[in-house]
Amino acid sequence: MPAIRTTCAYCGVGCGIAAQVTGERSVTIKGDKRHPANHGRLCSKGTYLGETVGLEGRLLHPMIGDRQVSWNAALDEVAGRMRAVIAEHGPEAVAFYVSGQLLTEDYYVANKLAKGFVGTGNIDTNSRLCMASAVAAHNRAFGEDVVPCSYADLDCADLVILVGSNTAWCHPVAWQRIEAAREKCGTKLVVIDPRRTETAAMADLHIPVSPDGDVALFNALLDAVAKRGGLDAQFMRDQCDVPDGFLQALSGDHGIDPELFARLVDLVIEHPRTVTLFSQGANQSVCGTDKGNAIINFHLATGRINRPGAGPFSITGQPNAMGGREVGGLANMLACHLGFSEAEREAVADFWQAPNLCAGPGLKAVDLYRALHAGRIKFLWVMATNPAVSMPDAGFVREALARCPNVIVSDVIADTDTGSFADVRLPALAWGEKDGTVTNSERTISRQRALFAAPGEARADWQIICDVAGRLGYGSDFGFQNPAAVFREYAAMTRLPAQAGKALDLTPWADCSDVDYDTMAPFQWGGRDVFKDGFSTPNGRGRLIAVKPWTGNRHGLVLNTGRYRDQWHTMTRTGLSASLSKHRREPLLEVSPGDAERIGVPDGGFARLRSAQGESIFRVAVSDGQSQGELFAPMHFTDQNAGGGRTGLVVHAATDPVSGQPGFKNSAVELVPY
Ligand code: SF4
Repeated sequence: MPAIRTTCAYCGVGCGIAAQVTGERSVTIKGDKRHPANHGRLCSKGTYLGETVGLEGRLLHPMIGDRQVSWNAALDEVAGRMRAVIAEHGPEAVAFYVSGQLLTEDYYVANKLAKGFVGTGNIDTNSRLCMASAVAAHNRAFGEDVVPCSYADLDCADLVILVGSNTAWCHPVAWQRIEAAREKCGTKLVVIDPRRTETAAMADLHIPVSPDGDVALFNALLDAVAKRGGLDAQFMRDQCDVPDGFLQALSGDHGIDPELFARLVDLVIEHPRTVTLFSQGANQSVCGTDKGNAIINFHLATGRINRPGAGPFSITGQPNAMGGREVGGLANMLACHLGFSEAEREAVADFWQAPNLCAGPGLKAVDLYRALHAGRIKFLWVMATNPAVSMPDAGFVREALARCPNVIVSDVIADTDTGSFADVRLPALAWGEKDGTVTNSERTISRQRALFAAPGEARADWQIICDVAGRLGYGSDFGFQNPAAVFREYAAMTRLPAQAGKALDLTPWADCSDVDYDTMAPFQWGGRDVFKDGFSTPNGRGRLIAVKPWTGNRHGLVLNTGRYRDQWHTMTRTGLSASLSKHRREPLLEVSPGDAERIGVPDGGFARLRSAQGESIFRVAVSDGQSQGELFAPMHFTDQNAGGGRTGLVVHAATDPVSGQPGFKNSAVELVPY
């Protein structure tokens, strides 16, 4: 049997996989040499996917409470509960919390049901936690949420700047491309990160920026580059809108060691083909949108965009965060990169023939759980995510879930922290069973393909949503027979952004056959030079945005959070792999030597980490990669897989005022010996 070409389940690199099925539930995984994201490379997480396809711990049957029921009974229950809440409290008492683990087809029908037919804008996604600030920055600068870069730009840049990204651990195949370019072409590498991460330790230059100090740093960098004659005055004049006094308002204050800063400026001046790759360290911040725009400003003002080897490159955490963004998974967007202007609402209502198009944007994730806690939301459907662990201030989120009278959870795992609050649990298909598309960080759409038959009674998420829609009386609008039919409708809908001068345009796929869909090869929408004919703003010009450095309080001790190399999210999949679990067996709190001595917490001992939100016990790892006054903890660990190390309980729920993304980094904390 030939290998099946599919896509990795994990990060936003979106590597292609050649999967050789070797038994009923066994598979050999290799990198797909023809996939443009990875050309055959894989990291440890992708390589060991085969260790995670067993059925241990799977949710295989619909459940109401602890009772196994038929699909008909479960779907009737979900639709009945939703209908009753809408009748008594209105559509805005209904909310959906979905996930970048969903396929685009799942996301599309969830968004269509919520925003077009139920009539609630309250559908948000865990991608809010990952890259909503990059989305907001793109919209401000380009007029559309478009990443104007490709992985191939990493191969031909002469300078790569990583901001808030431990790329070697979190996007390892992108890192392998950077390493290959360094070896082959002498590409220089700068890492801007408060920690000396594994990535920073391998860089030509590490700038240990203070938490949330990135805007000050990029403003100062642009100021210094301008003074050295490094601006592209013609590009700014011909292709950008520049606010009055923009350059004069840039401050030289940056708080970085002057020698390091001077080396950074030299590298930038000497290497005009620059890619700045930014990730959760930039986005997960109370000023994440401004950070994104400070980075984009640098690229627009120096003309380092729209040409090979140059551009601001937001890289997503999840496999399909981009697909979700395209079909309106965020509460503040309609489908297909459209917003809520009257014209855009009319266009969407007309396309869907939607009876109840929501009046405006819904609640973003943190506000959604606040509304749940306050009793304003009375029905919540969670799909493919575990907010009881992954949301900031997770203790509050648990209280909110416990208070909600109608919690529906669609998941592949039977016992998750979030599932323990569910009234109804619906068994969904997992990676290796489901079929559809994902979009990676460079806008490449790839197929995920089924390797195995559906286990137990598990069903595709898009199918479950359509089954509920049918019970709500919308069967003819959700009568899709397969994921290809969903994709065709989505592709046809992209004529709306195309007509509005936006770049997202999949209309050639609107009439594709099922065979075309099944044999789809990876392709990048918009192409590599997506903005060659101008940006997506009404006048076609990019916008520099005046952004001010963060001026919040500096606390005595702050917590930053992040990922381990071989774990993923809340470990419901990677935790199944013995090979992956060898890398880090428990959550470690990294503490600088100076703080460890001052507080009296020895390496390998235990300490209590606490904040205004909550507390958890951690084993301490003294690390000279940590700056004094800053701690680091991983995000993954849960009640199910660790006694302590529950980072989400401690993290504050402050959000970026533009994007609504939680500022997972820079939480004020205390540490005491345990
Ligand atoms: Fe999967 Fe990301 Fe690793 Fe590629 S880099 S194999 S997409 S986890």
